[in-house]
Amino acid sequence: MRIVVVGAGVGGLALARGLSARGHEVSVHERAAELRRGGAGLSLYPNGTAALEALGVDVPSLGRRLDAMVVRTPDGRERSTMDLAAIAARLGHDVRQVPRRDLLEALAAGLPEEAVRFGRACTSVTETPSGPVVAFADGESVRADAVVGADGVRSVVRRELWGASDVRETGWASWLALTPLPDALADGGTGFITQAPGRMCSALPAGDGLVQWWFDLPWGPGVPVPDSPVAELRARFGDWADPGVRTILEHARDEDLSPFPHVRGGVRRGWGRGAVTLLGDAAHPFPPSTGQGANQALEDAWALTLALSGPRAQADPAAALRRYERARYRRAALASAASGLEAVQQFPMPPMSRSAADRLLTGQFALYIRSVSTVLAAGRAGVRLP
Ligand SMILES: Cc1cc2nc3c(=O)[nH]c(=O)nc-3n(C[C@H](O)[C@H](O)[C@H](O)COP(=O)(O)OP(=O)(O)OC[C@H]3O[C@@H](n4cnc5c(N)ncnc54)[C@H](O)[C@@H]3O)c2cc1C
Repeated sequence: MRIVVVGAGVGGLALARGLSARGHEVSVHERAAELRRGGAGLSLYPNGTAALEALGVDVPSLGRRLDAMVVRTPDGRERSTMDLAAIAARLGHDVRQVPRRDLLEALAAGLPEEAVRFGRACTSVTETPSGPVVAFADGESVRADAVVGADGVRSVVRRELWGASDVRETGWASWLALTPLPDALADGGTGFITQAPGRMCSALPAGDGLVQWWFDLPWGPGVPVPDSPVAELRARFGDWADPGVRTILEHARDEDLSPFPHVRGGVRRGWGRGAVTLLGDAAHPFPPSTGQGANQALEDAWALTLALSGPRAQADPAAALRRYERARYRRAALASAASGLEAVQQFPMPPMSRSAADRLLTGQFALYIRSVSTVLAAGRAGVRLP
């Protein structure tokens, strides 16, 4: 089948890899001039790493395995520990922190030469009796048996399908960076999250001496980027005694920090129409507060690869796309709903002993990952990619 993917992000490249390994003729069209180098890192949970393994990616070579996440208060007091190693053991796949650029390169490395075309901004998608036609800003167009919009939160393909975008800023933003830090933080497998109502700071080791660290705080739509983000963060978090936060504030440099306003859009029950569908943020744009966006994009790539494999899909691509959307809708919608917890940025924790708190947090998070995963459910049912 001839499949056109719009967008060479995590989801688009993962899908292209899955489909081209199964004999489809896939072309990925990316608006940017090259693969994205920034965007710091991504936490990949057992559902994301399971999808990557099924798509043939060498997961242990990516970033660093995470074993634990300590939750602290601004004065540095530990409240609980999420045992990520136990979650990985329970669900059968690692939790890893991965520089985004490394993940994109690993996904692209598995693709045939010329499969990804850069400088190709999609401007329209038109459904015709002989298949959908995708047009680009350079004046060219391509016809396909199926088109997948993996073009992120401001998806043009989504707009072409469903009209004006409903994606809005939530009033929060993350300021994040991926840098070396002169601290034990970079070497171990343990990260931290330090929270107060309305503010948080977190850091996770990402391999090769790098640490991904970020601050989440309310950030109204249209509020300008300050001249010195570091000065702004020191003003807002400088009174925190937490040792990890102090180390970060001491070593932070303006040039390393990028702001990402959080956005959210609705999750439609049916993501596509005819031989056109959506994948990843284009289908379910939601804030990063539970670290599931890329994991859900990888889940989509796995599920769409499965739906487009086999003679049934060849005979009726549109029906295969609807099977994929049905397989993913409920779990992706749940991941989207759970990301609304950003407004509190606190794991609610009734008074209890430390060990009970650790067990509760670990158990709740394992349950959450299982609930939002199509790939793990399929694995339990014995369903695999062909
Ligand atoms: C601050 C922050 C932290 C995050 N942390 C995590 C995390 O720890 N774990 C996690 O799982 N997720 C995380 N996410 C979410 C994650 O980054 C996204 O969910 C994920 O990248 C979605 O992948 P995608 O392929 O759908 O979209 P993207 O990765 O956004 O890729 C879309 C691609 O489409 C291209 N494109 C856009 N428009 C066009 C066009 N018209 N024509 C052609 N190409 C186009 C873009 O250039 C881009 O390359 C985080 C997000 C943010 C903002």
